[in-house]
Amino acid sequence: MDLRPADRDELAGMLRAATAEGRVLDIRGSGLHARRGHPFTADDVLHATGLTRVVDYVPEDMTITVEGGVTVGEVLRLAGERGQGWPQAPSQPAATVGGVLAAAAGGRRRLRFGPIRDSLLEVVVATGDGRIVKGGGRTVKSVTGYDLPRLLTGSLGTLGVIVQATLRLWPLPMAERWFTTRGDADEMLDLAQGVLADLHRPTAVVAGPTSLHVCLTGVPDDVVAPAGMVDAFEPGGPGAGTVGSPAGTVEASVPPAALPALARQLVADGFDYEAWMGTGICRARVSAPEDVQAVRGMATAHHGHAQVIDGDDAMRTDPFGPLPAGADIMQRIRASFDPAGILCPGRFAAADPVPA
Ligand SMILES: Cc1cc2nc3c(=O)[nH]c(=O)nc-3n(C[C@H](O)[C@H](O)[C@H](O)COP(=O)(O)OP(=O)(O)OC[C@H]3O[C@@H](n4cnc5c(N)ncnc54)[C@H](O)[C@@H]3O)c2cc1C
Repeated sequence: MDLRPADRDELAGMLRAATAEGRVLDIRGSGLHARRGHPFTADDVLHATGLTRVVDYVPEDMTITVEGGVTVGEVLRLAGERGQGWPQAPSQPAATVGGVLAAAAGGRRRLRFGPIRDSLLEVVVATGDGRIVKGGGRTVKSVTGYDLPRLLTGSLGTLGVIVQATLRLWPLPMAERWFTTRGDADEMLDLAQGVLADLHRPTAVVAGPTSLHVCLTGVPDDVVAPAGMVDAFEPGGPGAGTVGSPAGTVEASVPPAALPALARQLVADGFDYEAWMGTGICRARVSAPEDVQAVRGMATAHHGHAQVIDGDDAMRTDPFGPLPAGADIMQRIRASFDPAGILCPGRFAAADPVPA
């Protein structure tokens, strides 16, 4: 059955009923990141897309408070009217704010603007048993208590439904441009390191097996092709990216200094990839479950980790790899947010609440 609450009260009632009846829920925003975590079977799909109120926008504070079903495109449109933006957001206007936060799905501008979790100031969440809980604070300095915003970032619908979020906005840069050049992987990685060393705070430096894309933001005079670095740095951009490719995408996370070595290994083994230079993050296209293990093996050898962020069921038999210490703590947190274990159980099986 499809559940479509129109507001938080209706949502809370649906969660209480599901808890009482032991009905398993899958939580959906726009569904762009639904192919994550272990596959699991749900009795009902709870769509958060009806929670579409813009609660408060205070341009002077550069904060906006929206319900979880508001889209990225709507936030950018409203903020853009006042010369502001949400630069950490991914480049998918149809994605919902709740879905982006629950998937920790940040965008390529992370090098300059940081991870998505840093843009979430306050969050209101409905727990599995229908309690409404608030954490964080709308102003940066007023935060006390547990860091609920960071706990919810990346929780993939396993801790609660994000009802409302207050986001920190940024002034829109006067100019932003992407520049592209092409060559073999070694040339691109060497050039990327030169760009990171020579340019003042590039916004993104994205290397692939045959191309390098650099994003610059600032005053128009600063946003020009990196002079003297290559013959041909043409205006351009990286396109849609690796997520959403038919087979699957693995996101590896390694210390930033290890990223060029990881990318060289990926290209040697024939993988297509998109390396966010300077951040340590690399997305690799995979087409078979063995590829997931291969990419993970490379990331682990560089003291990092790798998870499947997009893929059909066959690609997600082991989406996260070995758990870090602390699974018992995650189980206790899950149990306190979702006592009956109705929120996407199995998606992150190791953290599922242990039955009493
Ligand atoms: C089902 C599920 C539930 C989750 N629930 C929660 C939750 O409730 N709360 C929570 O906080 N998280 C949770 N997580 C984890 C959460 O998704 C991740 O923490 C989140 O995706 C972090 O993303 P990130 O963008 O910060 O990237 P990260 O992968 O954390 O990368 C951050 C940085 O660390 C660097 N790095 C990586 N390895 C090393 C290293 N060895 N040395 C130095 N630097 C390194 C990278 O270069 C990168 O710059 C959950 C995940 C899943 C899948």
